[in-house]
Amino acid sequence: MGKGFFNVPIAINEPVKSYAPGSPERDEVLKAYKKMFNETIDVPMYINGKDVKTGNTKTMSAPHDHQHVVGTYHLAEKSNVDEAIATALEARKEWSQLPWEQRAGIFLKAAELIAGPYRAKINAATMIAQSKTVHQAEIDAACELIDFLRFNVQFMTDIYHEQPDSTSDAWNRLEYRPLEGFVYAVTPFNFTAIAGNLPACMAMMGNVVVWKPSDSQIFSAKVIMDVFKEAGVPAGVINVVFGDPVMITDTVMDSPDFSGLHFTGSTYIFKELWKKIGNNIHNYKTYPRIVGETGGKDFIVAHKSANPIQVATAISRGSFEFQGQKCSAASRAYVPSNMWEVVKKRVIEDVKSFKMGSPEDLSNFVTAVIHEGSFDKLAKFIDQAKNDSDAEIIVGGNYDKSKGYFIEPTVIVTTNPKYSTMCTELFGPVMTIYVYDENKYSETLKLVDETSEYALTGAILSTDRYAIQEATKALQNCAGNFYINDKPTGAVVGQQPFGGARASGTNDKAGSALNLLRWVSPRMIKETFVTPTDYRYPFLG
Ligand code: NAD
Repeated sequence: MGKGFFNVPIAINEPVKSYAPGSPERDEVLKAYKKMFNETIDVPMYINGKDVKTGNTKTMSAPHDHQHVVGTYHLAEKSNVDEAIATALEARKEWSQLPWEQRAGIFLKAAELIAGPYRAKINAATMIAQSKTVHQAEIDAACELIDFLRFNVQFMTDIYHEQPDSTSDAWNRLEYRPLEGFVYAVTPFNFTAIAGNLPACMAMMGNVVVWKPSDSQIFSAKVIMDVFKEAGVPAGVINVVFGDPVMITDTVMDSPDFSGLHFTGSTYIFKELWKKIGNNIHNYKTYPRIVGETGGKDFIVAHKSANPIQVATAISRGSFEFQGQKCSAASRAYVPSNMWEVVKKRVIEDVKSFKMGSPEDLSNFVTAVIHEGSFDKLAKFIDQAKNDSDAEIIVGGNYDKSKGYFIEPTVIVTTNPKYSTMCTELFGPVMTIYVYDENKYSETLKLVDETSEYALTGAILSTDRYAIQEATKALQNCAGNFYINDKPTGAVVGQQPFGGARASGTNDKAGSALNLLRWVSPRMIKETFVTPTDYRYPFLG
């Protein structure tokens, strides 16, 4: 940037459309859904600006109708991954030198394409691929991805504005260089926005990317790729490969030019990837940056002063939207004995009123879980709870995978605060509640802190300020996103930067300048105006 200090558009959160009966967006998204569901697409990889097909394919189907094929995608050979790396490094020569406003222009355009011509398509694809209701698709695939793109452009310029002091004889400048080499994005199934943001935010900062989406999200990743193409991301800057995650990751991490991992997914996989990087550390030209946002066992704690209906609503909404497959979804709750009967009655009523089925029927609140592996795991925990003497299922507990992977929203009540489903991330519509003695609040907070290895999100509901303060302090290390008198889900870009610590991740807060800072390597430039010509200092006499 040499010809002006350009201001970028002030980022505002994309308004969420209602999809109410009679609204134009409802017709549009249902039309797109029908079309995309009934045609069969063939999704190539995207390397060096070209569609790449290997002929070795897998089929894609919707979780709510698993026998219905919506398309195929092509699996990478090792040579495709090698090509993606080589092509990224080649593209880096120009991309890393491109003035920031040109990069900003591309990603701002991508945001507008999603807000406008691609909105129905990206939402419909997310309804089909990940079985999201239209509202869940809208707040993820459309609004959150748009927000990531717009806000990150603003955060990028905020970072560039951060400059050191200078004096009259020396001018100090910080240049925020992209990382040397290439970076690797590995994305989860559950958010189309995360899938788009991880590669995009690194490319925005001038990096070149190899991106591996989740097998269960490729149908909607295809729309992201189409948007990037139309927005003008140059060839080689973001390369997309599909297939065997181990082969792809080994190939990427064997390269001496590997310079960063941007991962979102489960804790175990992230730790394995970290280990691989550690094992290869002597081979790299630079220390790779490692960012990972991983699992959670997110909690709701109610104090005896809380409003029981608010507690019940936080449980019903916080645990079951998108079938509990948000990393932030509440999956353990601590309810005091004084309000238990009221909370119980209301939660059972709420859960019984949820309609379950295909997202194409907009009256459904709950749809299917992502795949058979997830379904089988959840069914196993539910069956276990049916047999365990310290657990009782108070609502739900049925499941059926004949057409789609449907798990009834299930609430387990346990007398054992360390019961398996109080500690283990299930990633599905299963909430476990422990009812505690209303006079044992402090002890319960300690229990919350010590029960899980994770520390992603959590909520306290109370009308007593002292109790709120006590929880804020006692739980300070067990949630990266902590909510007071709210459910623990629904973080908004620019308002609640998201991420957790402990086993939940490196807490680099997606959707904030903190995250973007991980993808640059600052260079300090000091320019001296009158260069000394004599080594002797005055004190030498
Ligand atoms: P996952 O770990 O199964 O998969 C994530 C990605 O890793 C996918 O692209 C997958 O193909 C890849 N992968 C799987 N095995 C691999 C291997 N051996 N080597 C390299 N890559 C591999 O996770 P998921 O089921 O897609 O997503 C759910 C998980 O993600 C949950 O644990 C959830 O809590 C977490 N999550 C966390 C956040 C957050 O911000 N903390 C956000 C979304 C999801």
